[in-house]
Order: sequence, then structure tokens, then C-alpha cells
Amino acid sequence: MNYYQLYDQIKIEDLKIFAYHGVFEQENRNGQNFYINAVLYLDMELANDSLECSVDYGAVCELIRKTMTEHVYQLIETVAQKIAEAILLQYPLVDSVEIEVRKPDAPVAMDFRSISVRIQRSWHKAVIAMGSNLGDSRAYLQDAVQKLQNHSHIRNLKQSGWILTKPYGYTQQPDFLNGAVILETLYSPFQLLKFIQEIENQAGRTREIHWGARTLDLDLIFYDDRILNQSELIVPHPDLQNRDFVLKPVAEIAPYYFHPVLRKTICQLLEDLETRKNHKS
Ligand code: ATP
Ligand code: CA
Ligand code: CA
Repeated sequence: MNYYQLYDQIKIEDLKIFAYHGVFEQENRNGQNFYINAVLYLDMELANDSLECSVDYGAVCELIRKTMTEHVYQLIETVAQKIAEAILLQYPLVDSVEIEVRKPDAPVAMDFRSISVRIQRSWHKAVIAMGSNLGDSRAYLQDAVQKLQNHSHIRNLKQSGWILTKPYGYTQQPDFLNGAVILETLYSPFQLLKFIQEIENQAGRTREIHWGARTLDLDLIFYDDRILNQSELIVPHPDLQNRDFVLKPVAEIAPYYFHPVLRKTICQLLEDLETRKNHKS
């Protein structure tokens, strides 16, 4: 079961909007009716009979209309994404949305009731570990935090303090300054990876020696409780349990984050690592 299924819902059914989306020129010229279904997931226990603590569904309908009529898109997939994004950005109380865009008059020369797409979008939690041991490390790290924080698709960022650590793996290099952030994002794991790589590149990051000196290293440590094992992206980060320069800052901002593979909290992983180190010495 997805966590958002536990939430209360606001439902908008078959909101009719005339618009010009479509791949075909006649669709862009003549327009047609679209029907929108939207489910907004939020915690209504907070609502307290006041609109400030809930969501004005009239205003949501207006936002959907505006999103559908301000631009013309080729695909109803894009239309659905734009609506989802607009609602999640405009209404911080809404954690998750499902949007269905239905096109009963789609230009298909066969008998059908309607064609539709349905998507689900949410705010997701992510933890990012940060490190630098080249140039003005503190400035690179602070600048990266700013870039994350200022992005429209990121909110509620919490930052650890910075700690000075000995290099890991390749030890012939300066000490590192390390830290971590936890945040909420509308990005998918791969979009977030791409964004943190852009920030690294803007900091002049080069890759000569594996685990070598770098102006900025941003690693995606956790993304919700997702487990990904692909060549470009492994989440949770596969070596985090062996790195006190990751565990210590993360323990400061998210001590009870639960590792979905090792099935332990960050606190427990840090304790385990310290025990292992004490046994060695
Ligand atoms: P390590 O990941 O062991 O800390 P590193 O940070 O020095 O090593 P990089 O050179 O920064 O490694 O990254 C190499 C590749 O790792 C990246 O191109 C990226 O696609 C991939 N990668 C896989 N999983 C992750 C992750 N969770 N976060 C960031 N990059 C990842
Ligand atoms: Ca790294
Ligand atoms: Ca990295």
C-alpha cells in the first residue's frame, strides 16, 4: 500500500474544460472538450473548519482551467503533468495528487468512449550527502545548499552542520568538509540526480581519480524508501553504512530514517560502524 492511500482526499470529477491540446493541427485549431478528474491527498485532520488549513476546491478548479488554457500542449500526458505540478506547488498542504485527463472526442476513427491518461505525483523525501576538499570548500557546499533550496521543485530543506573528515579510499589528498541535507522534492530520483550533477558541474567538478579530490560531490543517499539498482543510480547509496562522514551528518538531521535494505535506522547504522571501528583498533 502506498503511504498516500492513508490520506484524506478531495475529489474533483469530470471538470469540463474546452482547450486546444493535441498532436493534430485540427485539434489545435478547433479545440475540444477535456474532462479532468483530480484527487488531492492531504491530512484534513488539520482542517479545523477553516479554509486556511484546507484547500479551496473552487480555486483548484480555476487553477486547472488556467493551466489548461494558458498553453497548448501536444500530449495529454504533458497536460496532466502540468496540472499536477501546478496543484502541488500552489497548495503546500497537498502531499500527493492523481490527475486524469480524458478526451472523449480524440481524433481516432473508431468507436470508443474516451481516451485518457492518469498520473500520480507527490512530494518525495530525499537525503543528499555533500563533500568537498578542493578550493573554497565551505563556499562550494553553501552554494550547493542555496541552489537546492532555491529550486521551485524542492522545499523544506534541512541542513546538517559541516564536519572535517579524513579522506576515504584514496588517502593522498586534503581533508574533506562534509555535510548532508534532507529535503522534499517533486523530482523523480533520476531528475534529482541530474540536478545535483548540474550543481557539481557548475562547481567545476572533474573526475580524474576515483574517490580523488573534488570541489563538490553530491550523492543521493535516500529517496523515500525506494530501492534502485541501476548503472547510473543506486539508492540507497551502497556504501553509506561504512562512512561516518555520511552517517554523522545524516544522523543530525534524520536520525530515524530507515534504511530499506539493511532495515536499520541511521542511528543504528552509525552505532554499528562505531562498534566495528572499536573492534578493529
Ligand atoms: P561514491 O559513489 O562511492 O561516493 P563518487 O561519489 O566519487 O563515489 P562519482 O564519480 O561522483 O563517484 O560518481 C560516479 C557515478 O555514480 C555517477 O556518474 C552516478 O551516475 C553514479 N551513481 C550511482 N548511484 C549514485 C547515487 N546514489 N548518488 C550519486 N551518484 C550515483
Ligand atoms: Ca561520493
Ligand atoms: Ca558522487
